Amino acid sequence: MHNEGYIKFDLQWEKANFIFPDKLFLEMNLFRKRLFDLGLIGMYSDGIGFGNVSIRIGDTNLFIISGSATGSIPNLSKENYSLVTGFDIDKNTIYCQGNTAASSESMSHAALYKSNQKINAVVHVHHKKLWEKYLNNLPTTPKNAEYGTTEMANEIKKLANASEGVIIMGGHEEGIVSFGTTLEEATNRIIKLYNTL
Ligand SMILES: [Zn+2]
Repeated sequence: MHNEGYIKFDLQWEKANFIFPDKLFLEMNLFRKRLFDLGLIGMYSDGIGFGNVSIRIGDTNLFIISGSATGSIPNLSKENYSLVTGFDIDKNTIYCQGNTAASSESMSHAALYKSNQKINAVVHVHHKKLWEKYLNNLPTTPKNAEYGTTEMANEIKKLANASEGVIIMGGHEEGIVSFGTTLEEATNRIIKLYNTL
C-alpha cells in the first residue's frame, strides 16, 4: 500500500454563477464534443462519468473546467462547468465556483497550469487501449501516485514540460492527460494518438 502522505481531497465549492464568455464556452464544447464522440470522454456502464477539459483564464492560474459527473452528457450547458478560483496542491484543496462542482481531477489540471505558464488548456480522457499502448512509452506518472492525490499532482508537475504534451497516468488506469497552448492543440494531441490505434 502506498497511502503515506495521502491527503483527502477537499473541495471548497461556492454554488454561484461565474462570468463565462460565450466564445470560451463554445470553444470548450466544440473540442469536448470531438473527444466525447470518440468515447474518450463518457460514462462507464456503472454510471461513473470520466474525462474533462479546461482552459486557463488569461494569465492567471484560474481555469474553467467541465464539472464533476458530466461525462455522460454529449453537449454541456454553462451550468455544467465550474470555475476553479484557487487551489492548494500540498493540502489537496480546490476552491471552485459554479452550479456544478469541479472534480478531484481538477488538481492535475491545476498542477500543469501552475508549473508551465505556456499551458493554456488541459484535457483528461480515459481509454483502455490507448493507455495500455503508451504506458511507459510516453512520459508516465508512477503507479503508486493515485488519482486525486497530492502525489499525483506532484508527479504531473514534473512532466509539465514534456515536449509531447501528453502524460500517461500510471496510477490511474486508463487515464491520460494532454496539454497545449490552446484547447485545439491539447485535443489534437490526444486525437493524433487515438489515430495510431
Ligand atoms: Zn480520470
